[in-house]
Amino acid sequence: MRLRNSTKISDKHLEQMIEFVDPGISKDTMVEIKPSRRLPSGYSWFRPKKKIGIWMPSKLHYPYRWNVTAASRLPGVVLSEDENLVFLLAHELRHQWQYRRPPRGEWFPGCTSRSHNTHERDACAYAWRKVRAWRKLQPREVYKEFPSPT
Ligand SMILES: [Zn+2]
Repeated sequence: MRLRNSTKISDKHLEQMIEFVDPGISKDTMVEIKPSRRLPSGYSWFRPKKKIGIWMPSKLHYPYRWNVTAASRLPGVVLSEDENLVFLLAHELRHQWQYRRPPRGEWFPGCTSRSHNTHERDACAYAWRKVRAWRKLQPREVYKEFPSPT
C-alpha cells in the first residue's frame, strides 16, 4: 500500500486504520488522504490506477452526526474523527474489493447484483461493520458523549 497524506493526521495512525479495515486488497492500492473544506467524502478508482482518496475536513466538529439510514445499526450515528476515517477507508477499499469480482456469496446478503446501488449497499454495510468493530476496541471513556455500540 502506498500512502500519500497531506493532512495533520499521522501516517502511522492512518496505516493502522487501513490495516484494520482492509478487505485483503490494500497492498496494490494507492491511498491518498487530503484536507477538505467540505464534508467528509471519498472515491475509489480501479483504472488506470488502483487508487482510493479521502477528503477529511480540517475544521469539522466532533462528535460528528451522520445523516444515515438504519443500515448502520449504531443509535444516532455520531462518530469520532477516527470512526469517520474508518468508515470512509473501509467503504472505499471495499469498492476496490468489489472491482476484483469476488464470488457472489462473499457480498453482503441482498448485494449480489452488479448495479450501482448494490455496490453502495455492500460498501456501506461493510464500512459500518468495521466502525462497530473499531468502537468496541476503544476505551469506554472516549465515548462519554457518544451512543454506546450495539
Ligand atoms: Zn461508495
